[in-house]
Amino acid sequence: MFDNLSDKLDKAFHILKGHGKITEVNVADTLKEVRRALLDADVNFKIAKDFTAKVKEKAIGQDVLTTLQPGQLLVKLVKDELTELMGGDVAGINLSGTPTVILMSGLQGSGKTTFSGKLANFLKTKKNKKPLLVACDIYRPAAINQLHVVGDQIGVEVYSEPENKNPVEIAQNAIKHAKANGFNVVIVDTAGRLAVDQEMMDEIARVHKAIQPQETLFVVDSMTGQDAVNTAKAFNDILNFDGVILTKLDGDTRGGAALSIKSIVNKPIKFVGTGEKMEAIDVFYPERMAERILG
Ligand code: GDP
Repeated sequence: MFDNLSDKLDKAFHILKGHGKITEVNVADTLKEVRRALLDADVNFKIAKDFTAKVKEKAIGQDVLTTLQPGQLLVKLVKDELTELMGGDVAGINLSGTPTVILMSGLQGSGKTTFSGKLANFLKTKKNKKPLLVACDIYRPAAINQLHVVGDQIGVEVYSEPENKNPVEIAQNAIKHAKANGFNVVIVDTAGRLAVDQEMMDEIARVHKAIQPQETLFVVDSMTGQDAVNTAKAFNDILNFDGVILTKLDGDTRGGAALSIKSIVNKPIKFVGTGEKMEAIDVFYPERMAERILG
């Protein structure tokens, strides 16, 4: 995960090794390399620039050069800043409401349906919940089937109305069905498109307004880098969502989306997807991720 970024940061800190005494120039060179590593990971220019400016400010504030191990302290400052960049504290999922209603949003192919299944499985096995999955994609019958396959795999019921072309009604009926049958979590999988378009946005906004979810989650493919951030912004403008799900972190992703999304939309990354299997879901811990990146 983020191997390239880890390698580059490691090389940046090499500048500080093998020097008798570390100078201000060495620190500046290191931070320049840190910035370059972030840019290479597809982090937006301004975020990368602010990042190194903040680390530099702290390094001056803590008089890094006069400490016993300036190199180690600088690594720690970078780690703290990476943690902060990715959201600081771990963000939980709000499971209030009877039932808890969770609305999934995102582009087609982002991993929405797969993640809906993973989340249902996680809540069932780890949180002792009885979830209901809801298929609200009225355009692609294959998407409804896919959710049924996922539901069968994890032993979770899937609610769908293949003949109904009104996603608001389907979602509302699903919630009624959940209430009548003792489901305490309803996960609504919605239709995505290949790119942001007005029709999709209007539709999900209508569903969102009608069902008033406790959690609106935005699912994004981490491999899409800067595009992920732009899409997040578009969805957040419409839905003011509660959290981000970063999928495909197991792939060859450079890390830009994970590092930039929080600063752009100011919403936490709540979970990550790390594979195609139903178990490949992890709660997102910013600090652990920062530690991992720094190796
Ligand atoms: P949707 O169109 O947003 O519902 O996307 P899907 O759930 O159908 O996922 C699109 C493709 O990405 C499928 O082939 C999934 O198996 C795959 N996928 C989803 N999540 C992950 C993940 O975390 N890692 C990997 N490697 N593949 C994933």
